[in-house]
Amino acid sequence: ATMPPLLSAIANAGRHGVLVKSAVVMERLGQVDAVALDKTGTLTEGTPRVTDVRPLPGPGLPEDEVLRLAAAAEHPSEHPLARAIVDAARDRGLDIPLVRDFGSAPGTGVSATFEGRSVAVGSPARLPDGRTGGPAGEEAAAPEMTRALDVAAALEEEGRTAVLVTVDGRPAGVLGIADRLRDEAAATVAALGELAGTTPVLVTGDNPRAAARLAGEVGIDDVRAGLLPQDKVAAVREWERAGRKVLVVGDGVNDAPALAAAHTGIAMGRAGSDLALETADAVVVRDELATVPAVVRLSRRARRLVV
Ligand code: ADP
Ligand code: MG
Repeated sequence: ATMPPLLSAIANAGRHGVLVKSAVVMERLGQVDAVALDKTGTLTEGTPRVTDVRPLPGPGLPEDEVLRLAAAAEHPSEHPLARAIVDAARDRGLDIPLVRDFGSAPGTGVSATFEGRSVAVGSPARLPDGRTGGPAGEEAAAPEMTRALDVAAALEEEGRTAVLVTVDGRPAGVLGIADRLRDEAAATVAALGELAGTTPVLVTGDNPRAAARLAGEVGIDDVRAGLLPQDKVAAVREWERAGRKVLVVGDGVNDAPALAAAHTGIAMGRAGSDLALETADAVVVRDELATVPAVVRLSRRARRLVV
């Protein structure tokens, strides 16, 4: 028998390195008329590196100590930023102690207790302030926190992701982390814009400064930054209510709810979290972003043969 068009399209997608989970998904891919792209791990390669370690004057910890404490708190996390921090500590030959009471909040950061101290690492805008309990720097911030946020802002201005390290609630240092844009990012944004009939939107948990800078490099003008996982869902729902069929492409635990809420969700496989891979309708197994517009085209071709 000749293979039904949607099934041959699935086989074809497989040859491109994309796992499409069903014929229904293969069909839906061709219907999308709006695209939301995650930043870290999707438009970027997903292997960020620590570029700056900036100890803060308050607690007065040396550079290596800030990095060692951050690495210990991040060790249990599977987030790409966590891996960057652990790798940076190992590169400096630092011993990473085991931690107790590890906790993580998607889109925010991690915390852990060890050596009689509690250490938190995460977004300067969201990390709880040890004294106020609110987001860092929100309350009539102590000069220490103001200083920390200034250091973070300067790094973000350079396109870095700034991560704040607090020890017993006091800002101890700021790490600058950078990830490379994928070579094919701009071309993929253009191709998806053409297929959907509208330029893709950037949806990211990262800071607005770094997000805007990267968006400019790939030709995106609609940027939603500082989003929590549920904010990504809200954005998708808003577009769907306006009658759009949204394709979401993401890789993180933080993207999973949006991947589920979207008309079609595609996960980046290599650095992708297990939750994203399970939730998505399709998975980019070979780590090439350009395969995303390719499978949308395959779907459109197959649908012409079906109807
Ligand atoms: P994106 O949407 O760009 O993939 P995430 O939602 O995963 O990013 O993360 C958003 C922000 O939350 C990060 O830029 C960082 O500030 C903070 N964050 C999340 N997880 C961690 C972590 N494990 N360590 C440090 N910071 C984190
Ligand atoms: Mg991501």
